[in-house]
Amino acid sequence: MNARVLIDGPSELVFDYAVRAGMAVSPGCRVRVPLRRKSATGTVLSLTGGDPQAGFAVREIEHLIDPEPLVTPVLLRIGEWIARYYGTGIESVVRSLVPGSVRTEDHSAKTRRAAVLPAPPDAETLACLEKRAPRQYTIITLLAAAPDARLAVAELGRGAAAPLKALEKAGLVHLEDEEIRRDPDATNTEEILESTPLQLNESQQAAFDAIAGYIKEVSDHQARSEDQNSELKTQNPTKPTLLLGVTGSGKTEIYLQAARHALDLGKSVLVLVPEISLTPQTVRRFKARFAAMRDEVAVLHSHLSQGERFDEWHRIRKGKARIVIGARSAVFAPLPGLGLIIVDEEHETSYKQETVPRYHGRDVAVLRAAFEPCAIVLGSATPSLESFHNTQTGKYHLLRLDQRADGSTLPLVRVVDMRLEAAKRKGGPAVISDKLRTALEARLENGEQSILFLNRRGFARSLQCHSCGHVCHCPHCAVALTYHRTDERLVCHVCGYQSIVPRKCPECKDPGIQLQGYGTQKVEEILPKIFPTARIARIDADAMRRKNALRDILQQFRANKIDILIGTQMIAKGLHFPNVTLVGILNADLGLHVPDFRAGERTFQLLTQVAGRAGRGELAGEVIVQTFTPHSPSIQFARRHDFDSYAEQEMEFRRQFSFPPYAHCAVLTSRSAHERRAEFTLQTLHRRLSENTPDGVLVGEVLPSPLIRSHGQFRFQITLRAPAARPLTRHVQNVLAHTPLPEDVTVVFDMDALNFS
Ligand code: ADP
Ligand code: ZN
Repeated sequence: MNARVLIDGPSELVFDYAVRAGMAVSPGCRVRVPLRRKSATGTVLSLTGGDPQAGFAVREIEHLIDPEPLVTPVLLRIGEWIARYYGTGIESVVRSLVPGSVRTEDHSAKTRRAAVLPAPPDAETLACLEKRAPRQYTIITLLAAAPDARLAVAELGRGAAAPLKALEKAGLVHLEDEEIRRDPDATNTEEILESTPLQLNESQQAAFDAIAGYIKEVSDHQARSEDQNSELKTQNPTKPTLLLGVTGSGKTEIYLQAARHALDLGKSVLVLVPEISLTPQTVRRFKARFAAMRDEVAVLHSHLSQGERFDEWHRIRKGKARIVIGARSAVFAPLPGLGLIIVDEEHETSYKQETVPRYHGRDVAVLRAAFEPCAIVLGSATPSLESFHNTQTGKYHLLRLDQRADGSTLPLVRVVDMRLEAAKRKGGPAVISDKLRTALEARLENGEQSILFLNRRGFARSLQCHSCGHVCHCPHCAVALTYHRTDERLVCHVCGYQSIVPRKCPECKDPGIQLQGYGTQKVEEILPKIFPTARIARIDADAMRRKNALRDILQQFRANKIDILIGTQMIAKGLHFPNVTLVGILNADLGLHVPDFRAGERTFQLLTQVAGRAGRGELAGEVIVQTFTPHSPSIQFARRHDFDSYAEQEMEFRRQFSFPPYAHCAVLTSRSAHERRAEFTLQTLHRRLSENTPDGVLVGEVLPSPLIRSHGQFRFQITLRAPAARPLTRHVQNVLAHTPLPEDVTVVFDMDALNFS
């Protein structure tokens, strides 16, 4: 028998090795193998029939590193599916399945030397020690008083080495290595009080009962199939559930109680959130609800050190952490006995990975639930049309919460037509309309809080010359540079390029170069002029570069030390502040005019989510939306909190033009520093893609990407659509495999693409 092994290291080498008789190798195991004149470590991808390829002497695996496969059979199956579906190598998928710190041998469990008292010495020995060896006596008494009669050697102080040795020799004390956990939460001094389950309202109860039923059903099914050891195990008797609940309807409370239900059945729980740093309140609520089992909660986030990641991964693998909360990649957490997966804010685009493998975390979660099998709940106030469509075709269950849980009403949304505002004033439209100003004043008078939302950071959009019209652009990307006031710089929001602010127009030397448009920094500067006494803070990627800046500002906001909070989409997600009664959306059009068929859907989602931050307490909320296109459907339906009507009209458009959810949509992009080469390569691919095209696959034209130049690379793209995913991916894979590409051109295939820029 041979094993196909993925060698650790940057080059993704895959070789076959022979398996010696008696070596219990299975897919997912880690092995040490010979590589050229050295040896290397790797992961077994699959086992193949014995025949070595003719003419090749297959070398033998040196040894098995760990007897248990590092990747469970279910996860390996998911890995194979991802590789096939997204048209990528299994190597890159395995790299995502298991964190590097676990895969390579550079990291290991951290241990320390501990002294243990196996049994208390008899009185005679003690008396003798007390008299003749007082230091040994002290150690014995310390150990006897310690929990589990065990202490770290380091804790016994410097002088303990010799007496310990003597005690060990006399057989009174054992010395051993014990594993210690690098606890990422150890330095967190924030006290979290245990929360108790709330009494569910009627619609919450109905939703909970349904979900609890599914959890129980899969759990029973698993137990039965384990008894019979049958194939049944791989079938999931339940369907995924979409929990569509308006903002503040108590979805999180349902997640918490459903999680408890699964834990009580002896199962483990996986919670996916869009981004850990942007959803601190959700994480905190899970920590609070399960405070009594704090050690069993693992929060996976990108700031873990390699050692912490190693420890958390193994803790999860051993079943010591039964609740795992994390972003996209946590979908691969090796939880044994998985009973429930929760995907919060399932519509969020951050679930899609924008590097290879380009998987969608939510979709992989649905697949995992099918394979494990376990129950899965996708939750959102503004679900993706893909998931909503699945409830209409009967693939998913739909559960709804149409009221806010605390009895508050959804906020009243007013739309302000900024074209009229502009006409009222000379010199262009104001940043803050009269209506919004009056509303802000009222909040300040009543001691209530406001949030101002603007989806653009920086101070002004760009620098434009008034005499020749020249706009300062990034030299590497096809975008205008954004002015940042704090450090007096022009910054590219795509590649990070920075330059100084010119005093004269670089083109015509006119000093009349001026700022156009505005961003969050500009708003932060304007507001104090209108409201001199207001306490104002800003949240965006620039303001949050300092560690813990986000946490600190949110804490101050919660403590009512900030009156007006200005922010980008960083504040759109899941924040809950009861004293916020006003949300102002400064420019609702910003996302609407981008060349992406989902632009309307994104705008609807963002407006609804941001509006949902208002009126989450005793006091009613109000939302003011400033826009230049007041009649666009996404703005009108968001205004009425009407997901169903929005979805209905948007679906009609998608159906007519064969866009998702009625078709899969993929993008093939070419990139090169040479514009012609990038375009020419894609034209060649286009020709081949248009030959022998499988039925139903539509191949679009070669077009410049909306962002034609990024990081100094020119980009062209082809959009492909098909009712079924497989034929599309296979066709593209086939063409790519048979078309040699020039060295200086990169081609990227993105299945179910969410980003068309
Ligand atoms: P969502 O996750 O749908 O936005 P949350 O779970 O955050 O909603 O709930 C919104 C608010 O309502 C929270 O303050 C929560 O504590 C409260 N809440 C949830 N369920 C109930 C309930 N059954 N009774 C009273 N308050 C509730
Ligand atoms: Zn740039």
